[in-house]
Amino acid sequence: MPAPVASVPEAVARAREVAVEIAAPQAEVTDSGVWPEQAMRALQASLGGLVVPREDGGAGLGLRALAGVCETLGEACASTALCFGMHNVATAVIAAKPTERQRKEFLEPIAAGEHLTTLALSEPGTGAEFWLPQTRLTSEADGWLVNGEKSFVTNGSRADSYVVSTVAADPETPAGEFSNVVVWQDSPGLSWHGSWDGIGMRGNSSLAARLTDVAVGADALLGAPGDQIWYVFEVVAPYFLTAMAGTYLGVAQAALNEAVEHIKQRRHSHTGRSLASEPVLQHRLGVLWSQVQSTRRLVHWAAEEADSGGPDALPALTSAKAQVADTAVSVVNEAMTLVGGIGYRDRIPLERHLRDARAAHVMSPTTDVLRMWTGRALLDVPLLGT
Ligand SMILES: Cc1cc2nc3c(=O)[nH]c(=O)nc-3n(C[C@H](O)[C@H](O)[C@H](O)COP(=O)(O)OP(=O)(O)OC[C@H]3O[C@@H](n4cnc5c(N)ncnc54)[C@H](O)[C@@H]3O)c2cc1C
Repeated sequence: MPAPVASVPEAVARAREVAVEIAAPQAEVTDSGVWPEQAMRALQASLGGLVVPREDGGAGLGLRALAGVCETLGEACASTALCFGMHNVATAVIAAKPTERQRKEFLEPIAAGEHLTTLALSEPGTGAEFWLPQTRLTSEADGWLVNGEKSFVTNGSRADSYVVSTVAADPETPAGEFSNVVVWQDSPGLSWHGSWDGIGMRGNSSLAARLTDVAVGADALLGAPGDQIWYVFEVVAPYFLTAMAGTYLGVAQAALNEAVEHIKQRRHSHTGRSLASEPVLQHRLGVLWSQVQSTRRLVHWAAEEADSGGPDALPALTSAKAQVADTAVSVVNEAMTLVGGIGYRDRIPLERHLRDARAAHVMSPTTDVLRMWTGRALLDVPLLGT
């Protein structure tokens, strides 16, 4: 087991090793609908404790590291980046206000590369409004019972534990009084439904879960009852937005790389001219490059701003994921045009990037919601509500 990484560049370098040696060579197999087991185990061993505090054996790194790691993985294989990103988001949620037992049961094994976790928030009923779960939490003598359904759980059935958002079952409880609990994979009453057959992100095993009278101990509760909105905005949103922004930024870069390579290599026989000498194509590549670079600056600056508690952290993070979604979809689309009929016919990796990139807009908080939240943050209007 390698020692925890000490810096952001070291974390990115380790991610690059896994990206180049495992995730990229296996990207096609992963895209056939196979969860990226080998890459995930390598990432767990080398970077599993990326966001676990140092006192619990982790690297104690934050959003800048997460952005860099997900970007690096996303360039090689977006499904792998998503799976590893969600492990880190859930880890950050557990690490935000851990009890001593949660440190021993979750954070230390995560840091040791022995435990994979993930986030189960979205539900069939409330869809993109993941901050309004309907999964019920009922208090029992020695803990809680959890009942409900989750619609898309990345790493579903593969993780050792799931951070599950719930609402108190007591009808007298005021709106917003809901909480996150950690549910073990082998908990009686937790079942998985269907298989993941999305148009993209095909290796992410985003399964639907049903929780039927799942008993969790008192210590499964994260924070205090009613803390969930705090978790949504202080932990889930920053980590999730950053992980996703990094992932789809990597997809945009990969598409740009392919367009550049294709244009460099393609030469017409009747003129002997390389496509690289065509001014229109030069111009179009220049536009794509600046789109990717300016989005990259926004993503990494947003992560830095949030890590340092800067005043623009909120609008920076919300715009970063929205901007990446716009950039990834438009750059991949444009790259597809630049590789011409040959690229279209040969189903080169751009086709996978096109399908993967489409998830950027629909993964909650969705692009429209994020743009609205950015405006609200600037206007000092509460993010939630009408
Ligand atoms: C590949 C993938 C992996 C995922 N992984 C996870 C995961 O690990 N954990 C998890 O919890 N969830 C996950 N999700 C779920 C995701 O974050 C969304 O919650 C889910 O896609 C919502 O789907 P829906 O069809 O129910 O959306 P709907 O709520 O039906 O939304 C449909 C459309 O309406 C728009 N819309 C909805 N509400 C509003 C509003 N208030 N204002 C403006 N527009 C609105 C949405 O933007 C969207 O375009 C994943 C989804 C995908 C595609």
